[in-house]
Amino acid sequence: MNVTGDQALVKKLNRSIVLDTIRLHAPLSRAQVSTRTGLNKATVSNLVSELMTDQLVRETGLGESSGGRKPLMLLFNRTAGYAVGLELSVSYVKGILTDLGGHIVEERSSALEATDVAFVLERMRDMISQLIQAAPPSPHGIVGIGIGVPGMVDAKGTVLFAPNLGWDNAELRQPLESEFGMPVALDNEANAGALGELHYGMTGDDQERPRHLVYISVGSGIGSGIIMDGKPYKGSRGYAGETGHMSINWDGLHCSCGSRGCWELYASERAYDHAAYRLPSHSTTQLLELARQGDGAVHSLYEEIGTYLGIGITNIVNSFNPELVIIGGHLSEARRWLEPSLQSKVAERTLPYHRRELNVRFSQLGSRSTLLGSAYSAISAYLGHVRVSV
Ligand SMILES: [Zn+2]
Repeated sequence: MNVTGDQALVKKLNRSIVLDTIRLHAPLSRAQVSTRTGLNKATVSNLVSELMTDQLVRETGLGESSGGRKPLMLLFNRTAGYAVGLELSVSYVKGILTDLGGHIVEERSSALEATDVAFVLERMRDMISQLIQAAPPSPHGIVGIGIGVPGMVDAKGTVLFAPNLGWDNAELRQPLESEFGMPVALDNEANAGALGELHYGMTGDDQERPRHLVYISVGSGIGSGIIMDGKPYKGSRGYAGETGHMSINWDGLHCSCGSRGCWELYASERAYDHAAYRLPSHSTTQLLELARQGDGAVHSLYEEIGTYLGIGITNIVNSFNPELVIIGGHLSEARRWLEPSLQSKVAERTLPYHRRELNVRFSQLGSRSTLLGSAYSAISAYLGHVRVSV
């Protein structure tokens, strides 16, 4: 048994627990950190000193005393460093610069005129450079880069399959890591979106943070990020969450994946291609404009898409029993017209026990769930998070 290794791991674990506790619940006194974590006061004190030397934690004014001297309160020093979060889609690259607390400092968007790997990499390089240059000076500088992509990503950071981009086995991580000299975390956009929602999309105290959440990204297709028991669930090889290809009609429309009746053919922008009537446009932005002007045909289209979304969500709820389902992605901007039929289908069709305490809602992060989740992955890797609950 490697005792030294184990001790180092325990220390890393404790440090991560202390930092996370301060990050989530600050301001806290050392005694409160000790109570919350169950670590003894001497251990907390040592770890806090270390975190203060690293400038990740700082002291602020005096807190309430339960008797003697008023204690100094600890804060997470969120501007001690910055991270870059990117989201790649078929038609654009978006990027944000956030501090270590996930507050957006700078935001960029760039349309893609082509989707070949070399072209997209060049665009990403430009955007990352611009975001890095926009970072204020800080002790830790840029701690890493996170990227959400519309495809399946393996553990090595290779984009195995991104059908909408026409990619097979595309290397993104390695060229960007060697160019920028920092870690690059790559994930499927829906998985990143789920992390963004989990860590930055909740309101109130994190006591309410869900343990079982499914984030559904609806845009040019549908993908889902699944959080089970507080952790991302990725399946045996990392490909879980391809709910867009869950069949909801056994002899339905033919899908590019080779199957039939796939959910996304009916419940994403792909439904525009199969609408019963001729649509004036296949652009969500333009259709939303028409919807706002009161176009009845567009309202019916979204009502129908909402119905299909509700059917698929029912299948997901009955399978996974989540406490929260969040709908995000570009099409979530049509919420006003999607939501009534969506919610009524879920209410009508989910199993009664699954429906209890179930909350189905649209993202409160606007279209930034994936960007924030990508930045979170980079920050979390840097802060040495070990998968533990605090
Ligand atoms: Zn399919």
